[in-house]
Amino acid sequence: MTETKLNYIAGQWVAGESVIENWNPSDLSDLVGVFAQANADQLDEAIATAAEAQRIWASYGLERKQAVLNAIGTELMARAEELGTLLSREEGKPQAEGKGEVFRAGQFFTYSAAECLRQLGETADSVRDGIEIDIRREPVGVVAVISPWNFPMATAAWKIAPALCYGNAVLWKPANLTPASAVALTEIIARQDIPEGLFSLVMGSGRSIGQRLVESPDINAVSFTGSVPVGRGIAAAAVQNFTKIQLEMGSKNALAVMEDADLDLAVSVALGGAFGGTGQKCTASSRLIVHAAIHDAFVEKLVEGAKAMRVGHALEDGTQIGPVVSDAQLRENLDYVALGQSEGAELACGGTRVERATEGYFMTPGVFLNTTNSMRINREEMFAPLTSVIKVGSYDEALSTVNDTRFGLTSGIVTRSLARATHFRRNARTGVVTVNLPTAGTDYHVPFGGRGESSYGPREQGKAAAEFYTTVKTAYICAGEPA
Ligand code: NDP
Repeated sequence: MTETKLNYIAGQWVAGESVIENWNPSDLSDLVGVFAQANADQLDEAIATAAEAQRIWASYGLERKQAVLNAIGTELMARAEELGTLLSREEGKPQAEGKGEVFRAGQFFTYSAAECLRQLGETADSVRDGIEIDIRREPVGVVAVISPWNFPMATAAWKIAPALCYGNAVLWKPANLTPASAVALTEIIARQDIPEGLFSLVMGSGRSIGQRLVESPDINAVSFTGSVPVGRGIAAAAVQNFTKIQLEMGSKNALAVMEDADLDLAVSVALGGAFGGTGQKCTASSRLIVHAAIHDAFVEKLVEGAKAMRVGHALEDGTQIGPVVSDAQLRENLDYVALGQSEGAELACGGTRVERATEGYFMTPGVFLNTTNSMRINREEMFAPLTSVIKVGSYDEALSTVNDTRFGLTSGIVTRSLARATHFRRNARTGVVTVNLPTAGTDYHVPFGGRGESSYGPREQGKAAAEFYTTVKTAYICAGEPA
């Protein structure tokens, strides 16, 4: 019998009220594991112990906190191959991407470890005589982290690492589709020199455990990545308690390919941006906005490239596109293919379910041609290995099409013109802009986030993370008369 992996609550590994099974999307006969589901009482216990643990943790010296974060990051990087394989087995991204993600998760921790030592405040003179002012950041308190399945290690790491760095306690509710990565990371964190209850893993469904977590008046901040409807619900729940929130949600990222682009570069940037991670990235290039002068040549090579991509088992050598994450996601993707065709788009390749040696959720990468920006396939996040080409007649039309969306996470341009690249960089209404690079793929030491319905609240990552995970205190000091 498969051993049940437990929740980590108030410093103890504990069974839950039920279990879920986690199956490999590349091979539906492969059971990745069985995972406990926390109940409401366990969640309440985790919340109750977090506040006291947070006070103890905040009182630790900076080097002690730094050592904890460094140890977590170093272990993740050293075990990237092993944990990346586990990640790919449960999520479905090709093994190299799984390994890369775990390594990156480690880098979030080592980066935050260094940031422990860089927490400097400000001083000022008062406008009143004899008074000095000290301005410093303090921990926000108890932070709930709600993470998605598409980057089960990296997204969690870029929230948990800064939360701990700035002296907070963390309650983590990972996505139920990817609990194995969550338990693996928790095992590493649980071995560190931290107060009991500082970090808890509460697995359970979003609708029950997640909802209770965000409604709790004892949670001081919620950092969430996932869909827009769930983000909206979290915002509504959080405002009742004036809980601080940071929401990273969907997008409809566009890549503009100009007539002066290097054709081969443009095609490789588009393929990587559209189909990396099986298209299941909030930064995926799902709209390719192509100048008419280069359109036909670009489309020919793009379709050729998409057809040549190898779809297969995530752990098989040579696989470039793994399965999609779940049956529900696959069905939704195929519905979008049918919707696109019914809207008049031409499916030039892919977009169909395919069989491989093992039973899994395999789907070929699909390219829609002859689309308009008003079609639903160009307005709604699909989270699929699907992309659409929109033909435009000028740079100005390209830019206005890029900006014609409710979202605003990333956008990119492929051009040889510095003037155009500069204009685009300054006028694209997204939180991240790329030039001659895919819209996906960001660094860990600089801010990440978007505009519109893509993001709400302070930016994540880099120094910007301090804004969310801390609160500012302004102290006025009157030294009195000199002795
Ligand atoms: P969700 O938004 O449902 O899930 C994200 C996280 O939120 C999961 O941990 C989930 O738990 C949790 N959650 C769900 N409901 C609640 C709730 N009421 N209160 C608190 N937490 C909750 O995304 P899905 O996984 O269902 O994916 C659906 C779509 O969302 C995708 O197709 C994609 O378009 C988008 N998405 C975008 C992501 C991004 O990076 N921007 C990431 C993931 C999804 P659980 O799943 O365990 O129930």
